Amino acid sequence: MRTLDLLITNGTVVTNDQIVRADIAVANGKVVSLSPSSETARETIDATGLHIFPGVIDAHVHFNDPGRADWEGLDTGSAAHATGGGTLFFDMPLNAHPPTINAEAFDLKLAAAQQKSITDFALWGGLVPGNVDDLEPLAERGVVGFKAFMSNSGIEDFSHVDDRTLREGMKRAARLKLPVAVHAESDLMTQQLAREAMAQGRTSIRDYLNSRPIAAELDAIRRALDFAGETGCALHVVHVSSGAGVAMIAEARAHGVNASCETCPHYLTLTDADVEKLGAVAKCAPPIRDASEQAKLWTHLREGHIHTVGSDHSPSPPSMKRDANFFKVWGGISSVQHTLPLILTDGHFTREISMALISNVLSTNVAARFKIPSKGKIAPGFDADLALIDLRESFEVRTDDLLYRHRQSPYVGRTLRGRVRRTLLRGHTVFDDGKIVAKPAGRLVKPAR
Ligand code: ZN
Repeated sequence: MRTLDLLITNGTVVTNDQIVRADIAVANGKVVSLSPSSETARETIDATGLHIFPGVIDAHVHFNDPGRADWEGLDTGSAAHATGGGTLFFDMPLNAHPPTINAEAFDLKLAAAQQKSITDFALWGGLVPGNVDDLEPLAERGVVGFKAFMSNSGIEDFSHVDDRTLREGMKRAARLKLPVAVHAESDLMTQQLAREAMAQGRTSIRDYLNSRPIAAELDAIRRALDFAGETGCALHVVHVSSGAGVAMIAEARAHGVNASCETCPHYLTLTDADVEKLGAVAKCAPPIRDASEQAKLWTHLREGHIHTVGSDHSPSPPSMKRDANFFKVWGGISSVQHTLPLILTDGHFTREISMALISNVLSTNVAARFKIPSKGKIAPGFDADLALIDLRESFEVRTDDLLYRHRQSPYVGRTLRGRVRRTLLRGHTVFDDGKIVAKPAGRLVKPAR
């Protein structure tokens, strides 16, 4: 009889294809068995009444650290992530300073994250005009892929790519066996429409929404798909906001293009009417669409056309969220803390989307798409990254409960069902009963290449 580090008993385990009552045995940070018999453990957690999901893997956050930690921070951001059942995040290469566009900048962010992160983390490198020769050193450091903006990023030190740079970057990325992620909106179209509106003094929330039409998203997705087809580069289109955008990617994929897509909780749970009510706290790009578009996204998610759901947590100080001209307000939504309860509430409880599918888009698919070893599943040999959820319990999102540096969220006042009771990272409890209970011990996770 061996002695385990941890035994989690009586829980209902959500694996990627089924829901089973099982006990989870953990040794050396890994799941060793889902049907342990007569083993003793140093620690036992009674999970009676709880569902156990693989820890949330959020492939899309901006924690702004180093350099802009006054916007968010690797400490506050990762704590909020863990509070929401998160165990691994991929930090985007922009909104920190310097942006992660070369090896030196990678080293700075790595040092900050190792010091501050409660959960494990991976780092995106950036693809910007002039840095294609930096992609290889970034790959050697262990980036999970390269992020490019096809329209203005909103950050001066992170330029958007011209088509030539994107195509060349994708060729290099294909050789390095790493994906390229794009923010897909036509710069030409969005800039022209924004300029026109502002020149006429039309600067309301609705004017902003109208300046970023679905057509601008489709135009950019089309070009990115063409380059992916030509170069063989794995393409991941982040924060797709429209049904037609997802359909375009699904069709290219059916024709052999190595393409996948992400959407975000806000496109699934908020509408343009909510943005008009909520204002700056719900501003993002591409903008949140109408209810019919939201319905299409849920259908695509159900059909497996949306591979990952990431928060795109992208906060700013409150001062940047105040401007009578809505075009000038910082675009970025704070939400990393509530992805799982939001998708459970609006997906599982409202629309009967299976828990297995939810755990796929929030964990399993993310690890698989980005070739993250030993993460994203509750199975022998995988890291014991676990979220213990009480699905019977509803709670209201309250400002006081937000762990962000700036307590802003479009979900304040909303009642969600499915409370995260406990989060474990590699078998160690990092969040328990409403509190972060661990010191930062997050590790860099590198993709298999
Ligand atoms: Zn983003």
